[in-house]
Amino acid sequence: MTSRTDLVEELMGRFPHVPREAVLKEDLLRGGLAFDDAALTDNEHGDVKPKSYFIFSFDHRTLPELGTAALRRPPEEIVLTGGPYELRRTVVSVRTNPSSPYRVGTDSDGRLRLFLDGRPIADVGLPPMPAYYRHTLANGKQVMEVAPTIQWGYLIYLTAFRVCQYFGAKEECQYCDINHNWRQHKQAGRPYTGVKPVDEVLEALEIINRHDVDRASQAYTLTGGSITSQVNGLAEADFYGQYAQAIEERFPGRWIGKVVAQALPRADVQRFHDYGIRIYHPNYEVWDKRLFELYCPGKERYVGREEWHRRILDSAEVFGPRNVIPNFVAGVEMAAPHGFTSVDEAIASTTEGLDYFMSRGITPRFTTWCPEPTTPLGRTNPQGAPLEYHVRLLEAYRATMDAHGLSSPPGYGPAGPGRAVFSVSSFMDTLPSTDS
Ligand code: SF4
Repeated sequence: MTSRTDLVEELMGRFPHVPREAVLKEDLLRGGLAFDDAALTDNEHGDVKPKSYFIFSFDHRTLPELGTAALRRPPEEIVLTGGPYELRRTVVSVRTNPSSPYRVGTDSDGRLRLFLDGRPIADVGLPPMPAYYRHTLANGKQVMEVAPTIQWGYLIYLTAFRVCQYFGAKEECQYCDINHNWRQHKQAGRPYTGVKPVDEVLEALEIINRHDVDRASQAYTLTGGSITSQVNGLAEADFYGQYAQAIEERFPGRWIGKVVAQALPRADVQRFHDYGIRIYHPNYEVWDKRLFELYCPGKERYVGREEWHRRILDSAEVFGPRNVIPNFVAGVEMAAPHGFTSVDEAIASTTEGLDYFMSRGITPRFTTWCPEPTTPLGRTNPQGAPLEYHVRLLEAYRATMDAHGLSSPPGYGPAGPGRAVFSVSSFMDTLPSTDS
């Protein structure tokens, strides 16, 4: 039987122009990694920054199935270097999977290493606890809960609304566990605010601003579930927009403001821009028409795929095409039983979508699908998509970008192997090096 090491090395050999770091990172993101108890954190009381569960669970097991990792959280991210593949610095978001062939633990010298099939393959660095996580809001809430940072501190992730109004099997996106994740944290008795008050967000940002003396934090993302009716009397653009307005009034230009929301009509998109948002992510999720209809039934019913795409193009007139960066979930194209059964077909379809947007100056980006176990697609595809799909996507993404004369999108920090901080896919690790 082929081992996971064989698979990884075979793909590194077949695709020598894709950085080795990116091959490993994709495999860790699609399949997760296990942690020895010694590699877990002491939650908010230790020296290592814990996993914040900033929107989805991004785990391969539910909290009650994670054992010690449910009590002592794993780190938010790890950074890999060295080892037999001579890895340059690679930041990887943590997706916990106790059954993974990848394991973080200590070697005989007491050093923290990443093991694959029992063999050490990289040194592991852990994110230090940021000074701002050691402070609480006046009401006792943690900064980690209200305004967690990811991407090695680059991005403040403001999930203002922790649930989605696309609810139940007929509306929720079939790969998304936002609603389950909210339920499981409530059941575990963890603090997990459903709707974050604007004042709390401002207070948490004040703490970050005061203690982030190196200015590692460069951007914030406002996001959460879709709002099909209202939250606190506000429709989606005004609900998310109110945070941007308050942040930009209090901290003008301190961070790059981004919003992840539905593809909204032009007047709503204009309001986001007027509130001070500079980058808009109207995520199109999956390109193929049939798969979009099956996987995103709520989006199909409320907006529809063609209208969604038309609104993405419209929003480029408001924000400028460089600043419209729709996401897709890389890998769901190959999920059984409805997805493509060959990597060739899946890559061809995804590339058609990239061409559609990139030919108009819009640069999509992707996150690597994590098949969370409580989602319909995660249940039927616990292994996720083939690693070959993810590696070939990196190749196709860069080639399509080059063909249209585009470069790495703004708001993601530096690009290039050894420099990238974007942690939930390796597209930034694969692009030519830049400083910001
Ligand atoms: S729109 Fe879809 S992906 Fe986004 S939060 Fe709702 S269910 Fe999840």
